[in-house]
Amino acid sequence: MEVKKTFNNNVIQLKKKKPKCPNCTKPSKEPFVPFCSKNCANRDLIKWLSDENYINVKTD
Ligand SMILES: [Zn+2]
Repeated sequence: MEVKKTFNNNVIQLKKKKPKCPNCTKPSKEPFVPFCSKNCANRDLIKWLSDENYINVKTD
């Protein structure tokens, strides 16, 4: 069936696609996936936390 064929193609594409670091777009590395390094993982966490704090302050 058409739908099943498309789904299978998507799975293959996802497997081929190498994950990139959302912070600096370098290739992801274990064990920091999806980030490339501990530094990038920490930066993203800090960014995420400050965004949360900003939203909390704004809604209050
Ligand atoms: Zn990175």
